[in-house]
Amino acid sequence: MAVASVTNGCNRLFLVAYDILESENIEFWTWVYPSVEHRTCVRHMHKNSKKKFHGESLQRSVWAAARSYKVRGYNTAIEDIKSINIRAYNLIEDLGKKLEIWNISQFNIVCKCDYITNNISESFNAWVAEARERPVLDILDTIRQKIVVTMDKRRRMPTKWKDDIVPSVKKYVRNLSRGLATYEVRHCSDSKAEVSYKGQRCEVLLTYGIWSCRKWQVSRIPCVHAMAFIFNIRGAKWEEYIDLYFLVEKLGLPTTCRLLLFLTLTNGLEMVNWMVYFLYCQGDQLED
Ligand SMILES: [Zn+2]
Repeated sequence: MAVASVTNGCNRLFLVAYDILESENIEFWTWVYPSVEHRTCVRHMHKNSKKKFHGESLQRSVWAAARSYKVRGYNTAIEDIKSINIRAYNLIEDLGKKLEIWNISQFNIVCKCDYITNNISESFNAWVAEARERPVLDILDTIRQKIVVTMDKRRRMPTKWKDDIVPSVKKYVRNLSRGLATYEVRHCSDSKAEVSYKGQRCEVLLTYGIWSCRKWQVSRIPCVHAMAFIFNIRGAKWEEYIDLYFLVEKLGLPTTCRLLLFLTLTNGLEMVNWMVYFLYCQGDQLED
């Protein structure tokens, strides 16, 4: 079985399609979207590499490389890996040759999602675990029933929320705002600033939604530098800089799902977690 799912503004699973396939082949892999970015799950990579390569500093550098939004940070971590263990470095180079992407610095910014693990596929597996040992048609019907119930819950969930922005983003901003006083903001114009913190500078351009640390571009949530600038502008409201994906009123719409597509495969009775993500690169559909 193949399952394609995306995440919504609350990081909840949203199923797009599921199907029973005769076998895994090229036709299958190009079934969902033919020309897309493939991501490799860093948690799986980490688990596999721990069996071959030991040492905390190596593992730390692998995660640092994966989590870096900028190429410079990625390159620094990769140089560290090279100096710690050349074999681990060579394996990473091989991934690059296969066009498997596992670090945020290389992520396509169309997808609006900075996930480096496929935890959401694991969630799906747990969700359908009870149906796994049933005959095929029963599995499909159980999933259908679960989808109906879940969609109904999702539809009603926002009615309990008092704000316009989803709770996870509100919490993110609340946590960020506590430390903003330590950021130094130099206004260059109404929409441009240089934000410094502990000797590191970041350029923020509000008009085009560009933050030189790249977090906003990749995740669609303003980074700490952007927030420091927005909080520094008299009368500015941070809510106005939050993407439509995180608005409660848009939450139930499939077009506002963040466009990261996860594939989960079931092989016979055994669930197989693929480490490959397919990224839906169809561009923005939010204008309608
Ligand atoms: Zn930033």
